[in-house]
Amino acid sequence: MANDACSEIFSTRTDFMSRALSLSRRALPDCLPNPPVGCVLVSQGEILAEGYTRFPGHHHAEVEALSKLPDGAGSVEAYVTLEPCSFRGRTPSCAQALIDRGVQRVYVALIDPHPLNQGRGIEMMRSAGLEVFTGIEKEAVAGFIGSYLNIDPLYQQYRL
Ligand SMILES: [Zn+2]
Repeated sequence: MANDACSEIFSTRTDFMSRALSLSRRALPDCLPNPPVGCVLVSQGEILAEGYTRFPGHHHAEVEALSKLPDGAGSVEAYVTLEPCSFRGRTPSCAQALIDRGVQRVYVALIDPHPLNQGRGIEMMRSAGLEVFTGIEKEAVAGFIGSYLNIDPLYQQYRL
């Protein structure tokens, strides 16, 4: 019984990340040169809001999803295909946005190789008291997003 409960929870988490992955495909090609990312916000086992990265200077996946989250939603979990950004680029930090909105738990498929991130987004959220888990659906997500995570060694930015 206990084992069944565990595998049920695990498969649900996998399903939410798979949903985030399928959303992330819609980000292309508008998001480029930013990588195509998807985000699903869940409360008590139900998807409350979804988002994917928009064109440069507009919402990243996390902020897009947060903008649709109903007021008063409690105990929110985020499923994001790539580590939320720790830094302000063209847009504010997504890690900070998740913290500010009181998200309790964050599931991340892949660590962002961007030189300004590389685990800093995870650290920021953990320091703020969020529970963060990495690696869920890693292979499936990497198979899609991997080719969009090339970093230009000269400019230390994503490149196509
Ligand atoms: Zn971001």
